[in-house]
Amino acid sequence: MSDHKKTIVLASGNPGKLREFAQILQSFDFEVVPQSQFNVPDVPETGLSFVENALIKARNAAQHTGLPAMSDDSGIEVDALKGAPGIYSARFAGEGASDEENNRLLLEKLKGIPEAKRTARYHCVIVYMHHTTDPMPLICQGSWEGRILHEPRGENGFGYDPFFYVPTHDCASAELSPDVKNQLSHRGQALRALQAALHRNAQS
Ligand code: IMP
Repeated sequence: MSDHKKTIVLASGNPGKLREFAQILQSFDFEVVPQSQFNVPDVPETGLSFVENALIKARNAAQHTGLPAMSDDSGIEVDALKGAPGIYSARFAGEGASDEENNRLLLEKLKGIPEAKRTARYHCVIVYMHHTTDPMPLICQGSWEGRILHEPRGENGFGYDPFFYVPTHDCASAELSPDVKNQLSHRGQALRALQAALHRNAQS
């Protein structure tokens, strides 16, 4: 791989994710452009795991642009709900559901479950594909442990953040500054792993 700055398409339209990507990728050696700028159509997420869905989205973006592509598939796994909503986190309360609707349903399903049994974690898988038929995509992941709160706290972040208690910092994820969230989060972990993998590739 040559070391001049190249463009990578980012296969995501989620504004919360795009904000975090932009913050974390400031120091990236690559120019990362959201797929909306290339009018890439969304693709149905038909996989049964974060990895499968991330591959589907990255491949779709690479196919429509002819450029290398990266994607994020992420969600929250709640132990008391046997891992739900998991890969269905964005559409927990139905296709096109808002964060508020998803959070309301989550709280409803956890009604009566005590603090200690509300353990949960965010997962994130980030895939990088050099091209549509890349047989060896880079796959990086991160997880972040917490518990589901009874009441929302904080204004930052997106999605389930107001209800995601972070024991190491004794606050909700939505109370963390963007910088601190990125240092701790599933997405921050996965992106830093990808950054390291891309550096290794560039040097080989
Ligand atoms: P995806 O776009 O199909 O990967 O769905 C990801 C969904 O998981 C988001 O829409 C959120 O509901 C949830 N999620 C993932 N990461 C986070 C996070 O960092 N904070 C809050 N919610 C998240």
